[in-house]
Parts: sequence; C-alpha cells; structure tokens
Amino acid sequence: MSDKIVGILGKRGGQLGRMLVASASLLNVKVVILDVGENAPAKQILAPIKPELAHVDGSFTDAQKILELAKKVDILTVEIEHVDADVLDEVAQARKVQVHPSPSTIRLIQDKYNQKKHLQKAGIAITEFFEIPEPTPEAIHAAIDKLGLPLMVKSRTLAYDGRGNFPLRHISQIEEALAALKDRPLYAEKWVNFEREIAVMVVRTVKGAVASYPAVETVHMDNICLLTFAPLRSSDPATIANAQSLAESAILTFEGAGIFGVELFQLPDGILYVNEIAPRPHNSGHYTIEACETSQYENHLRAILNLPLGSTSLKAPSSVMLNLIGGSSDMSQLTSFVGNALSVPGAAIHMYGKSECRKGRKMGHLTIVGDSDAQVNDRLRPLLSQLPNPMT
Ligand code: ATP
Ligand code: MG
Ligand code: MG
Repeated sequence: MSDKIVGILGKRGGQLGRMLVASASLLNVKVVILDVGENAPAKQILAPIKPELAHVDGSFTDAQKILELAKKVDILTVEIEHVDADVLDEVAQARKVQVHPSPSTIRLIQDKYNQKKHLQKAGIAITEFFEIPEPTPEAIHAAIDKLGLPLMVKSRTLAYDGRGNFPLRHISQIEEALAALKDRPLYAEKWVNFEREIAVMVVRTVKGAVASYPAVETVHMDNICLLTFAPLRSSDPATIANAQSLAESAILTFEGAGIFGVELFQLPDGILYVNEIAPRPHNSGHYTIEACETSQYENHLRAILNLPLGSTSLKAPSSVMLNLIGGSSDMSQLTSFVGNALSVPGAAIHMYGKSECRKGRKMGHLTIVGDSDAQVNDRLRPLLSQLPNPMT
C-alpha cells in the first residue's frame, strides 16, 4: 500500500490514535506511537514490527521524545493539537520527515485567538471576539463594553472539553472568571445564541484539495460532546450544503494534509459561524467508521500518505454516536450499560482500553446505524434511558 512509516504524537491515553492505528492495520501501514506508558490505548493494539520501530515512551510536549520518534518514521502526524510545534517545524525543515498537518497550521490552531484572527482575515464567518492582553478586571470590562453580556471568556491555549471557557453572565463574576482561568492567556468571544451545534469533517490532500463529510449535529452535555446525529436532521437541505461549504472554505485556508474537524454554530435565522477547528480526527467524526464509505481515520492516513482519498459519502442512511463518559473511578456502570447495548441492532461498540475510569473521561463510544432517523431513534431511546448519568 505504502512503504512509508507513520509516527503519531499521541495524547496521553488518547482514543483517536487507537482508532487511527486500527485503520492503519487494515491498510498494512506501519505506525510508531509516542505516548506515555507502555499500555497507552494506541500501543495496546499494535505490536512493534521490529525492535527499531519500538513505540516511544514520552509526552507529545517533550522535544527529545518527538525527535526520537521522528528518527524512526517518514511521516509525523498528531492526535492532539497541543504539541510542541517548534520541534515539529525543526523536523519538517530538515526535510527527512514530512509533518502533517503542517507545523504552521498546528501552531495557528493551538492558539484560539490567533486561529480566530486567521479565520476573520480569510473572510470565514465567526462570532466577534476581542483581545484580553492582561488578565485584569479592566481588560474584561473593555471586552464587555465591546461585546456585551453574556460574554464567553476563553483561554487562548490548551483548551478542551470546555476546560478553558468561562461563561460570564454578570459583571459580578469578573473576579471569579479571572480566578478560574488564572495564569492562562485569555481572549473574549461575543456570546452566540445558537440554535444548535454542527460539525463537519474535512479531509485535505497534500496538493491542497478538500473533501467534506456530511454535516452532523453535535449535542453537548457540560461542554463534552455526548451525541452526534448523522446526517444533520434538517428540514432545510441548504443548511447541510452551507455547513459543508463553510467548513471546506475554512480548511482551504490552512496548510498541510490530513483530516480536520470543523465545529459550527447554527443561529436561529440559519446563519452559520465557525466555532473552532481541530487539525486531527475529531469526536464528531467517529460515526464515519460505521456510517461512511471511508472513515475519517482511513482518509487521514490516505491524505498524509498521498494516496487517493476514499469516498466521504454515507453508507448508512442514518446514525447516532453516543460517547461513553466516565461518571467516577468505577467503570462497572458503563460496563453493564455496554452489555445491554450489545443486543441493540445496528450498534457497534468501541471501548478505548484506558487504564483508569474518571469522571468526565471518554471511555468509549457506540454508534448505531439504521435505515431511517426514526429507526435509529427507536434503537437509541431505550439505551438513553439506561445511561448512567455521566456527570453525577
Ligand atoms: P473542544 O473539546 O471541542 O475542543 P473547547 O474546550 O475547545 O472544546 P469550545 O469548543 O471553544 O471549547 O467551547 C465549548 C462549548 O462552549 C461549545 O461547544 C459551545 O457549546 C460553547 N461555546 C463556545 N463558544 C461559545 C460562544 N462564543 N457563545 C456561546 N457558546 C459558546
Ligand atoms: Mg477545542
Ligand atoms: Mg470545541
């Protein structure tokens, strides 16, 4: 298929790398993982094929470990954007190893304020935003004067699952917001009264062509994606086309190959804004494994290996993905839930093999496919009523 060896900078215990590896094994693409511990989810399912290609034990922020991985592979890619972009730049400049997406894209995206500035400059629809140069009450007041209340105060860097966001509803919360986000570089966004959240996966080739997957609806609970419905259940077919077209336009502005997750807000009048972009496989694209001709993981590999892309079309008329989120350190509730899910027609279970269950941690997911939205709803409903409340 390809002789090139792929190196993945893994998130500590990440599931996206594990699913990338599963996809790589079907194509017989060789992969080396950088992650902490010998038992990281991606390493569990992939024995090194020879001693020189042993996985690397270390963090995606450790320059030495990234260089150690780079020595073993032809192409480097990431399952998390919070990596050391300077080292990746160094690796790419040396020209022995390709890095996808390009380090400049990763660097731009990992600072949400710079990402927003980039999108604004490129004419991509986004909500208004404002700099918070210093974490002071005065700077927050200036943002409120400009953007009003409520105001979304966000950390520019290292954000995930809403950790890094403070919804500021009243000026009396300014001190609380500064305390919650202390020591982090901040900016503010105008509050978006969205009707729903949409996501589109877009794959970009080495030559810069893009192809999008069907738009999906994402439903969040406590800032963590809980469900995605694919395709988007919309009475207006233009919404799906507009979402995909906006997502593609956004990804055309970045460099480098691979899959990108584009999160969007749909306003009540149908207007769409880009919320944020992930330069990697994305939770909202898990459904593509069972519901599309080619999964997001496989197309990511095809894109970075410069192989022809697979079709992004749906093969299941309707599907839903449900994240299995830990409620505590006790995994038993999720295990019994999964036991029941095994007998649901059209349900595929993915457990990530994470060493510890924790409150709010993504431990697995399931995707249910069906012939119609109604059938998928019927299959999902009994499961939802048994779902252990993940955040209690
Ligand atoms: P992720 O896990 O997707 O990377 P994150 O920590 O980067 O999340 P965001 O995607 O910026 O955070 O925000 C998390 C959620 O907060 C969004 O999905 C949305 O529900 C809400 N949100 C974000 N920005 C705004 C905004 N400007 N107005 C209203 N709600 C917002
Ligand atoms: Mg994010
Ligand atoms: Mg987000």
